[in-house]
Amino acid sequence: MIDVCLLGTGGMMPLPGRWLSSVLVRVQGRLLLLDCGEGTQISLKQVGWGFKPLDAICISHYHADHVAGLVGMLLMLANSDRTEEVSLYGPVGLAAVVEGQRRIAPCLPYPLRCAELRGGETFEAIGLRAQVLAADHGIPCLAYRFDLPRAPRFAPERAEALGLPRELWKLLQQGQTVQWGGRRVEPGEVLGEERAGLALGYVTDTRPTPAMPAFFHEVDLLICEGTYGDDSQLDRAQERKHMTFSEAARLARQAQARRLWLTHFSPSLERPRDYLEQATREFPGAVVGEDHLQTTLRFP
Ligand SMILES: [Zn+2]
Ligand SMILES: [Zn+2]
Repeated sequence: MIDVCLLGTGGMMPLPGRWLSSVLVRVQGRLLLLDCGEGTQISLKQVGWGFKPLDAICISHYHADHVAGLVGMLLMLANSDRTEEVSLYGPVGLAAVVEGQRRIAPCLPYPLRCAELRGGETFEAIGLRAQVLAADHGIPCLAYRFDLPRAPRFAPERAEALGLPRELWKLLQQGQTVQWGGRRVEPGEVLGEERAGLALGYVTDTRPTPAMPAFFHEVDLLICEGTYGDDSQLDRAQERKHMTFSEAARLARQAQARRLWLTHFSPSLERPRDYLEQATREFPGAVVGEDHLQTTLRFP
């Protein structure tokens, strides 16, 4: 399963009661952070999932509202006596941004790894298979998709037919090869049909692009920016390379996403929920995100 929490839902600047857009993801006790604006470390502490197991930070792009909190986050991890490596992911330019921020945090007690990504590239973090797609925001910006594969069903009748003792079942189920009866038994011999995994999508600070529906095809949860609530602000959304609620909802529908959470609200949007209907017209289950909204994605 994948736990997901919105640490913040604001764009541009943190407001009293609304932190900057950021998402915390947890898989088997390990944490991954999506975007890290000013104050994200405070919201992270409020949620209470801990911070020491934070293994990876993925940045969408280098506007301050998505990255200005990085140095503080790295220092907080340093204060937690972390010694394990931390991985940073982001579009081209990451090394320069990190180098600039590290001028005021030169000594960290853990290795820091930076991976600059281009659309189409993949990586693995906290047990998730990640993929990025180039977004359309005027500067390099990435959308992220995370997949948690599920092991095929275990077929006990096959294990019994081979006479395998039960203590070996679990190892095979985990994908390990075992020795039994003087030979190697491969996991494929006792596994049944493939099963669908879980998928999470995150996209902010972009216009919708033609590649996005396929990229987010059938994700269990799409977290998508909706900087502007009302369609009357479409001109502004186009000019500043953002989306309106209805555009975000249309993307979720085209992608056949199972759920949609909106985030990254303009500071001018005092009560984002007033515009919910703009989204539900396109995607009936749309949810207007709020800070610390949480869910657990589970295998069916
Ligand atoms: Zn932003
Ligand atoms: Zn931006």
